[in-house]
Amino acid sequence: MKKSVIADRRITLAFISIIIIILLAYYKVNPLYLLVAGATTGIIFGKVFCRWMCPIGFVLEFILGGTSRSKRQQMYNYHKIGCPIAWVSGGANRFSLFKIRRDSSTCTNCGKCDDECYISTLNNDCSLYKNDKKDPALEYTCSKCMKCIDACPTNSLDFKVQLRNNSKIRKENEYGKG
Ligand code: SF4
Ligand code: SF4
Repeated sequence: MKKSVIADRRITLAFISIIIIILLAYYKVNPLYLLVAGATTGIIFGKVFCRWMCPIGFVLEFILGGTSRSKRQQMYNYHKIGCPIAWVSGGANRFSLFKIRRDSSTCTNCGKCDDECYISTLNNDCSLYKNDKKDPALEYTCSKCMKCIDACPTNSLDFKVQLRNNSKIRKENEYGKG
């Protein structure tokens, strides 16, 4: 995934949020369609709805978008509780077509990805680069903010189509196998 797209995520979020608000408020679109959209995008991309499309997520970005631990904790709590769309799309993180992958051949184990991830910073059992820990990108609470990808100085993380079983991915954790 291009870093320029990640850098502009809030613009994308604002744009799609406004469209959704117009559809709901002006065109009286049934909110159930949003659930269908969240589930569909979840199966393909994982829990992208919260950080790339959701009007509530848009507001939260400005209230809780800081890097302090307390703000990260509040953001994490919100994405943990979420809403029906988050439940469905978050549950799909493990099985989605697109997943965050690390190329261990270029990774220098610098840890910058973990520093940017609210899951890794709040939970010592999770790490994007330590193979003996749980992969936060596969957790229900990974809201696909893509900050980990943006933070990586060697471009070792990417968001790409990956069909392999996640437990095997985590063990091998490098491209090109299977
Ligand atoms: S930021 Fe990139 S290079 Fe550093 S540990 Fe994470 S994946 Fe590896
Ligand atoms: S996309 Fe990366 S930084 Fe964001 S929550 Fe998921 S694993 Fe953490």
